[in-house]
Amino acid sequence: MEVINPATEERIATLTEDNAQSLREKWQRLKAAQPAWQARPLEERIAVVKKFSALLEAHTATLSQVLTSEVGKPLSQSANEIRGAIGRISWLTANAAKYLGDEVMSETADMEERIVYEPLGVIANISAWNYPYLVGVNVFVPALLAGNAVLYKPSEYASLTGLEIERLWKEAGLDSDLFLTAIGTGTVGAAILDMPFDGYYFTGSYKTGHFIYNKVAAKMVPCQCELGGKDPLYVAADVADIAAVAAATADGAFYNNGQSCCSVERIYVHEHQYDAYVDAFVKELTSWKTGAPTEEGVYFGPLTRKEQIAVLNGQIEDAVRKGATIITGGKKAAGKGYYFEPTVLTNVTADMLVMKEESFGPVIGIMKVKDDAAAIAQMKDTEYGLTAAVYSSDPERAAAILQQVDAGTGYWNCCDRVSAALPWSGRNHSGFGATLSHSGLRAFTKTKAYHLRKQS
Ligand code: NAD
Repeated sequence: MEVINPATEERIATLTEDNAQSLREKWQRLKAAQPAWQARPLEERIAVVKKFSALLEAHTATLSQVLTSEVGKPLSQSANEIRGAIGRISWLTANAAKYLGDEVMSETADMEERIVYEPLGVIANISAWNYPYLVGVNVFVPALLAGNAVLYKPSEYASLTGLEIERLWKEAGLDSDLFLTAIGTGTVGAAILDMPFDGYYFTGSYKTGHFIYNKVAAKMVPCQCELGGKDPLYVAADVADIAAVAAATADGAFYNNGQSCCSVERIYVHEHQYDAYVDAFVKELTSWKTGAPTEEGVYFGPLTRKEQIAVLNGQIEDAVRKGATIITGGKKAAGKGYYFEPTVLTNVTADMLVMKEESFGPVIGIMKVKDDAAAIAQMKDTEYGLTAAVYSSDPERAAAILQQVDAGTGYWNCCDRVSAALPWSGRNHSGFGATLSHSGLRAFTKTKAYHLRKQS
């Protein structure tokens, strides 16, 4: 399998893909190693995870270079991602004992009732390329803390990073049979579904998640899907500083080239604020530098996947055909590399693909709305349900709006952010289950209810 640098379109590595035979061998190694890991005290598992985190910190610069070389995000954003992953690990390790330790629910003179959180066993983690450290850590860190062994399948677009992660676990002192990487495309992912893992944890697109969920259902083991979004943002009439809101929300839409599951994907602005918002938004956006992701000060590198260029072109063509106006951008940038001009569309309508389907790129439609009710109707008009954001100076108004949108995360006066302390979960086509928070720490466990009578 070839690894291509999206900035240069050059091959930077050739890797051997896994196959049914190698996957089976890996599964057997994981299966054999897992019971001893589960038997180790939680503090020892926490210590290994902390060592892994220290290694991430010590090697941030070189790991960032590897990540940037295969996904194309600017070096500063790669380093930010790794720092973010370290922050999440810090929360997860600090709270592991509280949420993974035994819980005594009731105790009387002769009876104790207790919940014990047992690991699932050997889990498969099929992952996405856009934030391999962040979405990886969300799954494999709590899974290992809980005593599981993990087969980690990085995306074919982030395989070098997957191999780095595997190497760091070994260096951290984890038994080398407790965390193994499966290299390959979706074909390898599909082969993993044919094997007897004790749980499947997927991060990726709705289409693949739908396929995986159906396949895993037949096995009667847990399956969790963190999928895409078409995340709406509404700017109400009462915001105080429209230029600041425009700048912050442009970043929410375009950070990592819009390749975030929680990127702002469609914007609705009250008609009283609309013109000022669009002006400030475009001014901010066009002040950000495009260039080689290794260059200092670059905000826009190339897209990660060449295929996304056709998706974005299709959405823009569809929008223009239906009456949209291109305010800036609109096409792939000339020259080598998968660079796409940051694009803003106005005069957009709800039937346009750019307002309906995940763009996962630097393209945004901004729609004028006449009041809150019109904004709510638009925000609700989606099959996805990952995040929704409202900017308003009135907390009650924002809460009332967010309450009506069926999404796993609501943002008031912020967007495109994730906290380790809060459950990260989608609804509807954005998936189900949760990572992070107490829910995410326990996502890789099964409960055992103990009824303990003190006298025999
Ligand atoms: P994808 O669905 O194309 O691939 C994800 C993973 O699934 C890859 O490892 C891939 O090799 C594997 N895969 C592909 N086909 C498979 C099959 N038939 N069987 C088993 N595995 C298969 O997604 P992607 O392009 O890597 O990621 C982008 C998507 O992920 C976007 O929709 C984004 O919004 C979503 N995402 C969601 C979250 C979240 O937390 N909700 C986080 C990051 C990304």
